[in-house]
Amino acid sequence: MDMLNDPALDAFQSEVRAFLDAALPDGLRHAAARATSVFIDPAISLPWQRILNARGWAAPDWPAEFGGPGWSEIERYIFAAECARAGAPNLAPMGLKMVAPVIMHYGSAEQRAHYLPRILSGQDYWCQGFSEPGAGSDLAALQLRATSDGDDYVLNGSKIWTTHAHFANRMFALVRTSSEGKPQAGISFLLLDMATPGIQIEPIRTLAGDHEFNQVFFDDVRVPQANRLGAENQGWSVAKHLLTFERGGKYAPSLLGRIERLRERPIADPVLRTRLGREAVSLRALQALELKAMRGLGGNPALYASALKILGTEAAQRIDVLACDIAGYAAWADSDGQTPTELAVAVPRYLNDRAASIYAGSNEIQRDLIARQILG
Ligand SMILES: Cc1cc2nc3c(=O)[nH]c(=O)nc-3n(C[C@H](O)[C@H](O)[C@H](O)COP(=O)(O)OP(=O)(O)OC[C@H]3O[C@@H](n4cnc5c(N)ncnc54)[C@H](O)[C@@H]3O)c2cc1C
Repeated sequence: MDMLNDPALDAFQSEVRAFLDAALPDGLRHAAARATSVFIDPAISLPWQRILNARGWAAPDWPAEFGGPGWSEIERYIFAAECARAGAPNLAPMGLKMVAPVIMHYGSAEQRAHYLPRILSGQDYWCQGFSEPGAGSDLAALQLRATSDGDDYVLNGSKIWTTHAHFANRMFALVRTSSEGKPQAGISFLLLDMATPGIQIEPIRTLAGDHEFNQVFFDDVRVPQANRLGAENQGWSVAKHLLTFERGGKYAPSLLGRIERLRERPIADPVLRTRLGREAVSLRALQALELKAMRGLGGNPALYASALKILGTEAAQRIDVLACDIAGYAAWADSDGQTPTELAVAVPRYLNDRAASIYAGSNEIQRDLIARQILG
């Protein structure tokens, strides 16, 4: 962050660094270092969220009126960079970064007052029910049916790839409330309780062997219509608003942290050293682009969100390959037999991160969105 050259920001950075040095328990730092996915188990992320919340820092992106710290974009970026440098666990994005902004924007006063404090404290843990077996990139094809019955909707169908549904007590879901007109025009956005009778969760194992996501089945599940966010059949606008937050990101700080950890041990192989250096330089370029987007200098935010998603996830996948290559080298070069954690988790991370160019809208779709914006 040396490029900022601003004494007030330097002081802010020192304050954050001092807090992290004092408040981040070693146990959580070590558990985060061993995590093989960006979606960290809530047994690790929630204790850290509670520590941050006690300091008022659990939701850096939230406006102060809802319990955020009221930081500028640059301060938020510095905070993310310092958390990555300290090796703090990622917090689950589904509540804090995805559904919270849309509750702030589209929610009634009651919905805001009910849900936002529970998201902040970690009392509610959310999952995202968008994708279905026949609706991924073509999300508007979703078919989970919500039929009006008195004050309720009755839901039938299924959601798939639902990250952490097995931990969550809440889901935000897109459901079909009408089949008239364009597919986008018949979708509503619901907030639901995962303990509602008729919901069944089936685990799906990833390539790396992790249980991270699930298929969720709905069999006559009753959800009060009062749990709808926004108007009936207007859920597509809510979803588009949310997806900007899902994609927009700060990839460079955590990836630079990984590069630093890979450099902790001397690497004799000049080719590996050159590759590490090249990634560090390209991450600095990504960081400059992220800072530009943060400051609102980038023009269309949706375009930036797509571009940063592609650049960040592809950089992560290149670093995964590099970590595997260094781990292979370390296997015969290390004489003390103490493999650093960053290398011990290299292969499961590589396998897990293959999904990064698919989730949050595949990179092909992001390229398509950029092309349409620029070329018309
Ligand atoms: C680890 C992980 C976690 C996830 N978590 C969640 C979650 O919590 N909640 C949730 O709702 N969903 C989740 N998803 C689902 C994710 O959003 C979808 O996988 C994604 O939108 C792609 O949809 P799909 O898998 O159906 O692939 P498809 O849409 O079938 O695409 C298959 C391939 O075709 C390409 N393709 C499709 N259409 C086009 C096109 N028009 N132009 C060019 N190429 C195209 C895609 O890029 C992809 O390579 C998760 C996925 C993963 C991998």
